[in-house]
Amino acid sequence: MTLQGNDTPLLGHESSAPQAGRLRCVDVRKEFVTGDGRLLALDGISLDVAPGEFVALVGPSGCGKSTLLRMIDGLSSSSGGTIEVGGKRVTRPGPDRAFIFQGDALFPWRTVEANVRIGLELRRVKKREADRVVTQFLEMVGLLDFRKRYPHELSGGMRQRVNLVRALVVDPQVLLMDEPFSALDAQTRELMQSEVTRLWAATKKTVLFVTHSIEEAVFLADRVLVMSSRPGRISCEFRVDLPRPRDAGIQRTPEFIEISRAIWESLRGDVLRSFALETNNEALLAEIDSEEREERLASKQ
Ligand code: ADP
Ligand code: MG
Repeated sequence: MTLQGNDTPLLGHESSAPQAGRLRCVDVRKEFVTGDGRLLALDGISLDVAPGEFVALVGPSGCGKSTLLRMIDGLSSSSGGTIEVGGKRVTRPGPDRAFIFQGDALFPWRTVEANVRIGLELRRVKKREADRVVTQFLEMVGLLDFRKRYPHELSGGMRQRVNLVRALVVDPQVLLMDEPFSALDAQTRELMQSEVTRLWAATKKTVLFVTHSIEEAVFLADRVLVMSSRPGRISCEFRVDLPRPRDAGIQRTPEFIEISRAIWESLRGDVLRSFALETNNEALLAEIDSEEREERLASKQ
């Protein structure tokens, strides 16, 4: 079952404003004050995600991806610049945004359906309407028969599906996802990637998806933003024009391989540098530096 073509809308929400679903960051920076002084984690971050667009964000560990998502969600304040969702400036968390991270964050004492229902209860949606929406979403992800189960009775993939629909039932404009599948095994992860694209196509949400897997980014996204570190900046972006719907087989096409390679090329130096710094590997640092010098010289010739 899909939600497209379904007569009954899932919650008819305030999504009619022309800006609805648009996510904009302009010149955002973030500075942390730590025991060792100030740390400029992010600087000059500008991005514009169109309503209904799926954008993936990749970058070396520690470059500030989670920090950026937390600021967009309003969990953490920025040190400069502006963040807008649906044309409104973000100052705190709100129902227009949903955050999904690696852990599933389900309440262990609530059943599947009671977990999914939480956001609707908070919004005081009438019980009958809440029942209808919860049923529709659980059916969509194949979990209707598990509605009375508790989280510990489910597999990791099932829990993450409950987590996803729990975020979606309240009809946010923007979904912020921070490496949501990195704790899953490879097969479950592949299933979840298909599940996410299906849910995204059906609900037309704007998505900003952080991942450290280039293949996952290319498989899912319309556009991949690459971040560099110290301080974190968006160094380049790649448009992914692969046809949709995409299935796992697309990963073997020359187009997929080429774009993944190009993204890796743009990330490689920074990932190696982060790794070398974290592990105090001076030999590797020297090697990266000399490689980069040679590349610069070659590009001048
Ligand atoms: P990523 O998600 O890309 O791996 P993070 O956003 O978690 O990176 O972190 C970016 C940088 O900011 C890192 O150097 C991290 O140590 C630092 N950082 C993150 N949160 C805090 C904090 N609350 N206080 C101080 N430094 C932080
Ligand atoms: Mg992170």
